[in-house]
Amino acid sequence: MDTFETMMKKLKEMPQEERMKMIEMNRSMCTCPSCPSHNACAKKAKESFFCSTGKSFMCISEEKGCICPTCPVAKNLGLKNKFFCTRGAEKAQRYEHTLWGSTMV
Ligand code: SF4
Ligand code: SF4
Repeated sequence: MDTFETMMKKLKEMPQEERMKMIEMNRSMCTCPSCPSHNACAKKAKESFFCSTGKSFMCISEEKGCICPTCPVAKNLGLKNKFFCTRGAEKAQRYEHTLWGSTMV
């Protein structure tokens, strides 16, 4: 089990209140708003934390770089992917990779 899987297991086993606190703490550390791909639409809609919530809702479609690898959340949760706003959450990208047997980039 890698860091991400261990963290997801831990989250699942936590009481609801503690789990919500942990999610909010990670959300507050998200650096998406400083990313070149995070456009005016995403800012207006206050979109972020795509590694957990999944793709941007009709705001971000153009990839202009991704600063996820430097985000503390990526380290905390053991994320292996990036461009979550356009390619889907960590869970979704991992699932796709298992289906296709390769990375998407
Ligand atoms: S890894 Fe990326 S999407 Fe996830 S919290 Fe950090 S900047 Fe936001
Ligand atoms: S998920 Fe990555 S590419 Fe998308 S806004 Fe966040 S840091 Fe930028």
